[in-house]
Amino acid sequence: MSDAVKPVKIAVLGPGTVGAEVVRLLTRPGEDLAARVGAPLEISGIYVRDTSKDRGPHIPRELLTDDASGLIARSDVVVELMGGIEPARTLILEAIASGASVVTANKALLAAHGPELYEAADAANVDLYFEAAVAGAIPLVRPVRESLAGDHITRILGIVNGTTNYILDEMTTNGLDYEVALKQAQELGYAEADPTADVEGHDAAAKAAILASLAFHQRVALEDVFCEGISAITADDVIAARETGQVVKLLAIAERTPEGVAVRVHPALVPGTHPLAGVHGAFNAVFIEAEAAGGLMFYGQGAGGTPTASAVLGDLVSVARHKALGSKGPLESNYAEHEVLPMDKADTRYCVRMAVEDRPGVLSSVAEVFARHRVGIELVRQVPGQSHAGLILSTYRAPEGDLRATVEDLRASAAVAEIKSVLRIEGE
Ligand code: NAP
Repeated sequence: MSDAVKPVKIAVLGPGTVGAEVVRLLTRPGEDLAARVGAPLEISGIYVRDTSKDRGPHIPRELLTDDASGLIARSDVVVELMGGIEPARTLILEAIASGASVVTANKALLAAHGPELYEAADAANVDLYFEAAVAGAIPLVRPVRESLAGDHITRILGIVNGTTNYILDEMTTNGLDYEVALKQAQELGYAEADPTADVEGHDAAAKAAILASLAFHQRVALEDVFCEGISAITADDVIAARETGQVVKLLAIAERTPEGVAVRVHPALVPGTHPLAGVHGAFNAVFIEAEAAGGLMFYGQGAGGTPTASAVLGDLVSVARHKALGSKGPLESNYAEHEVLPMDKADTRYCVRMAVEDRPGVLSSVAEVFARHRVGIELVRQVPGQSHAGLILSTYRAPEGDLRATVEDLRASAAVAEIKSVLRIEGE
């Protein structure tokens, strides 16, 4: 490469877990990224709040600055790895306005303010890339946005949160209670001290909104995603699942049906034979079903500094290449206007576990409630209980609204002592 080729100047905002790894990988000796880009890559600066704080061996002190605007103004590409909504949103808009392309891993920001950022990037004719925002190292955004752009994606079914998969996997394989598995996840650094965003499904919901928007070529807002976490899952749920050859997984599901699109995150029973059932520990995996391609599976590390930095670097090479060539990647595709269906219209199978009175006629009373709401029972299993008998019923596919009404009536029924759990069945 001739010395006359101008370097692409890169600003890194936030040298934390991911950002520090991005800087380390960018500055590895003998790295041939320049050959892949067609121009040398030069870090123009690293934005921090406190320039005196030690940032570890891979962060050159002389590159640190607390002047974000000055750094952005002298950069061609801005890599935002601070997380959170503000000041990330304002700084990304500032970068776009100054003509810089942006790479971010910030799923929370994209799920909340994606349209504003995409529109600004399109108007300024710059790239906004975010591969690392969904499932860390796993290439998903680009396959959905580019490789499958000529196909019709009908369904996405994924484990996109490693923390919850770790907890549920420990409950399944080692018989731990939820609280013990969560504590273990915290000790190992898989879960935050405040685990709410992971265990209540918010992190997975943000990823589901991003994936659904890309897959269905329309905007799906975070508020459109039904979200239920795993904090109510008990050891008994996991044992009952195992007895029927199933495992409990937190799934992000995006579906396109003739009625519209439905996007939801919730724990679900998955058959033990399904490939998602074999996703252990903190790994992520996503199934995509497309009309022409059929089923595709993506599997790998959904988090961690180095794996996530790999996805950031992939984006960085792409947008830097575009900068070097004076070109640009694909625009946001948001032409479609399918109705985003409320959860009541989601159609799936259910497993209802309950304690019932131990007397003749109870089964027919319970069956009558299901029949009243047109929810077909596929399988009934009776399990011994102490003061009450245990019943586990699996249904045929039914709309969520009908199931909810069924469960309300079951709760009010004299035959039913307690509804222990209601879990959806997916992946069949
Ligand atoms: P992190 O370790 O908390 O690092 C955040 C960095 O940003 C720190 O250097 C922090 O500086 C800086 N920062 C935060 N708020 C700032 C502010 N207001 N002004 C200036 N600097 C600020 O976070 P991370 O785990 O690397 O995550 C970064 C992004 O990647 C997030 O959007 C996250 O969702 C996404 N992501 C992370 C992973 C992962 O495995 N970690 C996976 C996928 C996506 P101080 O050190 O001074 O606080």
